Amino acid sequence: MAKLKKLEDYREEIEQCVKCGACRAHCPVFSVEKREGRVARGKVALAHSVLKGEIALEAKVLEDMSQCLLCGSCCTQCPNKIPTDEIVAATRRRIAKQKGLSTFGKGIAAVLGRPKLMNLLAKSGGALSALLFKKLPEDSGLHLRFPAPYLEQGRTLPPITAKPFRERVPEVIPGDPQQPTVLFFTGCGINYMYPAIGEAFLKALKFLGVTIIIPKDQACCGLPAVSAGATQTVEKLAEQNLAALSCHQADYIVTACASCNAGLGKIYAEMGEEFKQLTSKTMDIFVFLAKHGLLEKLAALPKIEPRIKVTYHDPCHLRTQGITKEPRQILRALPQVDFVEMPDAGTCCGLGGTYSVYHYENSKKIGAKKAANIASSGAELVATDCPGCIMQLQDSINHATGKQRSVHILELLNQALPDDDS
Ligand code: SF4
Ligand code: SF4
Repeated sequence: MAKLKKLEDYREEIEQCVKCGACRAHCPVFSVEKREGRVARGKVALAHSVLKGEIALEAKVLEDMSQCLLCGSCCTQCPNKIPTDEIVAATRRRIAKQKGLSTFGKGIAAVLGRPKLMNLLAKSGGALSALLFKKLPEDSGLHLRFPAPYLEQGRTLPPITAKPFRERVPEVIPGDPQQPTVLFFTGCGINYMYPAIGEAFLKALKFLGVTIIIPKDQACCGLPAVSAGATQTVEKLAEQNLAALSCHQADYIVTACASCNAGLGKIYAEMGEEFKQLTSKTMDIFVFLAKHGLLEKLAALPKIEPRIKVTYHDPCHLRTQGITKEPRQILRALPQVDFVEMPDAGTCCGLGGTYSVYHYENSKKIGAKKAANIASSGAELVATDCPGCIMQLQDSINHATGKQRSVHILELLNQALPDDDS
């Protein structure tokens, strides 16, 4: 049985906070709201008080705990490596258990926990797209035509596809028997909003002769439910994915979404021994491609003109797992790309799962800093490795200059590779 850790399980880590305040310099939320309850030190202290039963779960505690992107920036900089993101998530689970889920959290649990309902809703949204959304200039996204709960009208959204990615492709795509077999964990972003990233994923792996399996019964990884504190939904989705992925023989489970990678590779790792194999096989797409000879193959391709100036945004869920090198290696090796670093490429974009729904004004302020850094790099495109970041980056850019586009690195790789004829 999949089991998420409880707040009690973090007692030792919580008690290791020495209140040094080093986390203050690295918290995106603290940078826009200079209040102790917004930073790791304040949250760890609050979690400690909740654990000891010193304070009730009053409105202020709920507000402080909701003001966290779960970005993990504080954890990597903390001298005692205190996992504040995990402690906040565990506190949210405690709050949900005692006080019930928020209205939005209930919605997340109801939809994510029922993949068939989610599929139906997404397809309906895709079919009614022209009615619900209006297109922004130069294909930079969509705006809602009407007010909707939890979504501001001025927010840039990607189109929802009327035909989800997993319904467009066969379950098994055979490759060279000498090459590994990969399970493609698509995640919801690629399945429902960015199917072109899924197509580009297939093209890259076919180029290397890899056999690809896209399990039809896979579900959401559960990260949005982690953010909402919806314990049972996360555990149910983990069980469902374990069953869907374990019934296939494969060498790797590969993701093209940073959040899915953290869901399968990090969150599931803590949920029981039965997840060990799944977790150890999980790999980010660019780590896989670099390990399996793509860089050498790209080096052999002729350079393409005109060149495109591209910068990279590190998704938090990869950066905190130490995956920063391979996406840049692939970008630098692309024959049409001039790669430039932007300032603070590793700071959070401001999405933070449910954070940008509850705290859109702060999310926009954090995103504005990212948009300014992208503009200062002189790049035309900001590439990344996470559909959620792509959505937030484009929204932030559109609130600023509207001059750049956010893309997945796989989309650029897709342009560089020869067309496959299958
Ligand atoms: S950096 Fe770590 S130890 Fe220092 S106050 Fe922040 S959470 Fe506590
Ligand atoms: S996880 Fe991110 S937002 Fe939350 S306290 Fe740490 S640095 Fe701040």
